[in-house]
Amino acid sequence: MDFRLTDEQTALRESVRDFAREVVAPVIAEHYEQHTFPYEVIRQMGKMGLFGLPFGEEHGGMGGDYFALCLALEEIARVDSSVAITLEAAVSLGAMPVYRFGTEEQKATWLPKLLSGEALAGFGLTEPGTGSDAAGTQTRALLDGDEWVINGSKAFITNSGTDITAMVTVTAVTGTNPDGSKELSTIIVPTGTPGFTVAPGYSKVGWTASDTHELTFDDCRVPAANLLGARGRGFAQFLRILDEGRIAIAALAVGLAQGCVDESIKYAKERHAFGRPIGANQAIQFKIADMELKAHTARLAYYDAAARMLAGEPFKRQAAIAKLHASTIAVDNAREATQIHGGYGFMNEYPVARFWRDSKILEIGEGTSEVQRMIIARDLGL
Ligand SMILES: Cc1cc2nc3c(=O)[nH]c(=O)nc-3n(C[C@H](O)[C@H](O)[C@H](O)COP(=O)(O)OP(=O)(O)OC[C@H]3O[C@@H](n4cnc5c(N)ncnc54)[C@H](O)[C@@H]3O)c2cc1C
Repeated sequence: MDFRLTDEQTALRESVRDFAREVVAPVIAEHYEQHTFPYEVIRQMGKMGLFGLPFGEEHGGMGGDYFALCLALEEIARVDSSVAITLEAAVSLGAMPVYRFGTEEQKATWLPKLLSGEALAGFGLTEPGTGSDAAGTQTRALLDGDEWVINGSKAFITNSGTDITAMVTVTAVTGTNPDGSKELSTIIVPTGTPGFTVAPGYSKVGWTASDTHELTFDDCRVPAANLLGARGRGFAQFLRILDEGRIAIAALAVGLAQGCVDESIKYAKERHAFGRPIGANQAIQFKIADMELKAHTARLAYYDAAARMLAGEPFKRQAAIAKLHASTIAVDNAREATQIHGGYGFMNEYPVARFWRDSKILEIGEGTSEVQRMIIARDLGL
């Protein structure tokens, strides 16, 4: 067992860390305040190859693996989570379904632009009436000749309405299985297809520089060839995508937790009270030591889940543990970092205010903490 990074992984982590500090940090507070999407940052991330990290070179990827993506996500989230979730959703929810399940023609059509960051894709699973219970999908797609006719709506879909969004993959009921359950399939819907409407962005508590919309499909017609993978495989497909995605969200949460440590150390040395730096007090030192402990153990949890996944071993339980633990400690660290900053921690000009606002969604998105516990319990045979 070796948890040390290779030279290549260390170099990747350092280059993304430099990028986050030099390119993301100076501009992100303004985007966050104004709720604007950081197109220029995304363009530069595309040039660095970050959107192609875990994909084969034959499709325009960087030939890395899922762990490389996680390392990059951790370093970006250490500075900002809106940018990190944009990358996470673009790769693990946007491009990955096409890479894993698409036909050669679908891959040739979509992957070059998605892997270069020139275009983004969304993953439409959640609906206004159903999230955790994804099998409760109401959106329907009926085959009419050589076209799917889609009707329904999707809620909270990341990267679905930017100027560079090229398509969304949508889960829909396409029939009934022999046992009477819903037949679910996944269909690619290109941006601009008549009948596909993107609502204005939500007003969110956090991740305000990321892109999230409700989508509606009203007799929206796409070619039958836009079916992703086999008909009826939608359920298995999104389970796989979400299992992997949990490791990526865990990495993002570890980044936020580590960013809280970074900012707290800096502030504890700068801020004076009672004639000395607040960091001279053991109460503050212990808070920061506990924050470091939590970030470290959560990092080991996602390294373990990623190692199992890359070794081709079962990793469902470990991915759920990593996501549950990392999101819990991210919220803890954000709360403590804010406390260490006192009144300034409640001011939006300090990065910890962003970390605090961005932490809560980590316990909700890509499977709530309750859902992670359900997955762990089920895997334990309960
Ligand atoms: C900013 C943002 C971005 C998102 N991006 C995407 C995206 O790109 N694509 C996408 O498809 N979705 C996306 N989502 C949706 C997200 O994954 C869901 O919000 C999440 O899975 C929870 O679903 P829900 O909101 O319907 O909550 P619900 O399922 O209604 O749950 C409400 C509460 O009940 C609890 N609960 C539900 N069932 C049980 C049970 N059996 N036992 C115990 N507790 C239970 C939940 O844990 C939760 O606390 C995004 C959400 C947000 C806020």
